[in-house]
Amino acid sequence: MSATHEEKSFRENVNLTFDIAAATLDIPDGLAYYIKGVNNVYQVRFPVKINGRMESFIGWRAVHTEHKLPAKGGIRFSPLVSQDEVEALAALMSYKCALVNVPFSGSKGGLVVDPKQHDADTMERITRRFAFELIRKDYINPAINVPAPDMGTGAREMAWIASTYAAQKPDDINHLGCVTGKPVTQGGIRGRTEATGRGVVFGLREFFRHPEDVKQARLEGKLEGKNIIVQGLGNVGYYAAKILQEEDGAKIVAIIEWDGAITNPQGFNIEDVAEYKKHQGGIKDYPRGNYIADGASVLEHECDILIPAAMEGVINARNAVHVKAKLIAEAANGPVTFDAEAILKEKGVVMIPDIYLNAGGVVVSYFEWIKNLSHIRFGRMTRRWEEAQNELLLDAMQSSGRPVSDDIAIQLKQGASELELVRSGLDDSMREAFQQLRELYWLNDKVHSYRIAAMALAIEKIALSYREMGVYP
Ligand code: GLU
Repeated sequence: MSATHEEKSFRENVNLTFDIAAATLDIPDGLAYYIKGVNNVYQVRFPVKINGRMESFIGWRAVHTEHKLPAKGGIRFSPLVSQDEVEALAALMSYKCALVNVPFSGSKGGLVVDPKQHDADTMERITRRFAFELIRKDYINPAINVPAPDMGTGAREMAWIASTYAAQKPDDINHLGCVTGKPVTQGGIRGRTEATGRGVVFGLREFFRHPEDVKQARLEGKLEGKNIIVQGLGNVGYYAAKILQEEDGAKIVAIIEWDGAITNPQGFNIEDVAEYKKHQGGIKDYPRGNYIADGASVLEHECDILIPAAMEGVINARNAVHVKAKLIAEAANGPVTFDAEAILKEKGVVMIPDIYLNAGGVVVSYFEWIKNLSHIRFGRMTRRWEEAQNELLLDAMQSSGRPVSDDIAIQLKQGASELELVRSGLDDSMREAFQQLRELYWLNDKVHSYRIAAMALAIEKIALSYREMGVYP
């Protein structure tokens, strides 16, 4: 592969897919061109005093589309984040929201900072200052632009952002909806932390419900017993791997992390590895596995499913030809480059695309935002009433001579908790979106991959929105 292939930026990679998908649709060029571009980007520099020294920070918040408000998407803290990356990620947010029917447009933020280099107090001051600058320009606002966690950020940072917003806008009764992914005790929702990883599993389960699709990947059966390699045991990779191992009986045979990879053909106990990583900072020398220093080489190991769950561009024109996985489940944003995609397709590797598979995070962010706007926990008014109704039903069954076992009676009696409702809403969103995209894939001759199907569906929905608003005749 020529060097120029490798020089495509993340945005170019996203836009190339967009162009192919848009060409399968009957939408005017001008409208497609408008949707593809980023509407606005705010760049901000600010100083923070650290140990008596003034340090400057630079960050961005990009808004890709504004067909539905608020615009939505995470904030990334990384020493490598750039404007191009933030813009590409904002575009992916637009497409994923449209695809899974979340009524938001796409945005993304990034701050050049290495969270590992600073203590919690310093990180709090940096985060609050960045938030302050974004709030001033309405790049954080419950009605206009709502961030969430991404790489390098989590519930802790979201709580700081929410608190900064509340201090700056004390008269905004919906202040809690200015950011999602908050701790549950600060207006967050149960199930948000696991949401992206659980969404990946719901997406995979739906894929495995369709034997024709499974056969294309040269696989058969269900997730049980499948050999899986996970790259990245961060929030997304950890939950996806843990749920696949504990609930679906899949075997996580290799884990790739920043300090190398570990392999074990019997499969790992994810909780045990995560516990080790928490104390050691990495996975090197984990006792119940084989350590391989060159972690990236493990992307090329034999497996049924490869789950890149860390960052963009890890499967690229250099290594794609060596990848032996049958199915690639894109849990990260943009892990397979445009050039790699072509190589993998040629080899018969099936890819479940990021804008579908990792949309679980934003789906549950949507639930959290609704909870914040309605100022009440889901199920609070109905749970006990449901339980009473279910009891009546059980009594009626028992008295008509249809006894129900104690186990079933207990399950049937329970009203749904917030967590159960969130998981059920997430499952429904993931199932429905996959059904839509596979239908387009199987029925439309111009659509040659799930990625193009997902992108085409997203573009179509955004285009319809602009048309209905009368922006385009
Ligand atoms: N950062 C996550 C993503 O890439 C979540 C975005 C959100 O919840 O707004 O999808």
